[in-house]
Amino acid sequence: MSSPYEMYVGGEWVTADTASTIDIVNPANADEVVARYQDASASDAERAIEAAAAARDRWATVSGPERGRILKRTGEILDSRTDEAVGNLVREEGKTRSEATGEVQRAVDIFSYYAQKARDLGGVRKSSSGQSTSLSTRREPLGTVALITPWNYPIAIPAWKLAPALAAGNTVVVKPASQAPGPTRILFECLAEAGLPDGVANMVTGAGSEVGTPLVEHSAIAGVSFTGSTSVGTDIARTAARERKRIQAEMGGKNPTVVMPSADLDRAVEIVGSGAFGTTGQSCTATSRAIVHEDLYDEFVEQIAQHAESLTVGPGLDDPDMGPHVSANELESTLQYVNIGTEEGATLVTGGSRLAEGDLADGFFVAPTVFADVNSGMRIAQEEIFGPVLSVIKASSFDDAVTLANDVEYGLSASIVTDSHSEAERFLDRVESGVAKVNEKTTGLELHAPFGGYKNSSTNTYREQGDAGLDFFTSTKTVYRSY
Ligand code: NAD
Repeated sequence: MSSPYEMYVGGEWVTADTASTIDIVNPANADEVVARYQDASASDAERAIEAAAAARDRWATVSGPERGRILKRTGEILDSRTDEAVGNLVREEGKTRSEATGEVQRAVDIFSYYAQKARDLGGVRKSSSGQSTSLSTRREPLGTVALITPWNYPIAIPAWKLAPALAAGNTVVVKPASQAPGPTRILFECLAEAGLPDGVANMVTGAGSEVGTPLVEHSAIAGVSFTGSTSVGTDIARTAARERKRIQAEMGGKNPTVVMPSADLDRAVEIVGSGAFGTTGQSCTATSRAIVHEDLYDEFVEQIAQHAESLTVGPGLDDPDMGPHVSANELESTLQYVNIGTEEGATLVTGGSRLAEGDLADGFFVAPTVFADVNSGMRIAQEEIFGPVLSVIKASSFDDAVTLANDVEYGLSASIVTDSHSEAERFLDRVESGVAKVNEKTTGLELHAPFGGYKNSSTNTYREQGDAGLDFFTSTKTVYRSY
């Protein structure tokens, strides 16, 4: 095992004050420690914030095209290191090679996209009611911001926060999740090689409970962009609001796909199956509820179970259909939900157990799981499981299906499978969800379109990605000039 990876503060790779480290084990083989990272203290986070604050004024005056050039170069360097980044992501987080390849490509594309955006942050000219007054707006960087990210998209999410933050002229401190910090480290190596000035972007690794407090409360922090669980995000949002900081928190989901009788059944099974079991169900937008019209309920249950049973499960490096959970805790949590579902009286149709035969013995593998006869009041129909567990709920009509789709605290992504134009439109009108799709799975997002949740999936303050991704990171100044 090589020496622990360092953190990036003020343009230098540094160790933590604590001298303690975090071990990352391979989710496909827990006996293998794949990397070791600094376990930072609050004082390390403060050091990073101070470095970012010191670089703020200088970076804000760097021209948009120059900021864009650095972002473009970062994307190019990452692109040239794709194989390494994919391997790292698979070993730390457990995704399949195909999933990891798609995610690294997404990060490359995000840097390329915001490299262009850095040229033109917008601003408008308004007509003034004064005879000799020019009235206009300009967008300015927010300042120094904290970016707190989860483990489940360990390169795409840091990229979709970092790139717009830097494009808009902010300086940042990033705290990746402790389960898989490696892809963020690689991003920082790319930023440094691309010529990002010292102090503009900083990275600290460590427990949220330790480094999180300064990142959210420090007086130099102007805003916090968080992605993660609803419980942590809600606490952070409360603290940030109390400290009068701008806050954006994108959080959990309990995403439904409604299946109507006009749907092609094979297509519906494919859509629900890939939404539920892709990324081992560890996507905020994963399909965890199939709400199926009673006319095709039994047939759907039979076919989705066959689909689940047909999936290959194994180490991500072998590129099976489904990889392991990221950690023992996540595996344990999924297995607990299987028990809860069974005790609640749902029918376990397939899966539900740990896979530990042969090569899988030391990994966090679980069989793709389908519950039928689920009613909407059950915990497995209400709570985010974050594993490959699908609850199939019966609906008596279109109206009933929409009511069931909305009958949760979350509202991140939702879809309907139907051949009826009218049903599709009425679903789009009524579903309480930040992303709504027709004849598509709930997962999968385009990087140039806004993304964010309704209800308890989000603070509903600012959207991420696309043009909207710049809003959080900019302030609008309105300029009146008399002549
Ligand atoms: P998490 O909330 O446990 O952790 C997210 C991040 O917050 C980590 O970096 C963690 O170290 C940090 N953190 C924890 N406590 C903190 C504190 N007190 N102060 C500051 N930071 C703290 O989430 P997770 O387990 O890493 O990720 C899974 C969750 O993320 C799921 O609920 C999933 O739905 C959600 N998610 C949402 C989106 C979205 O865009 N809506 C995308 C991906 C994941």
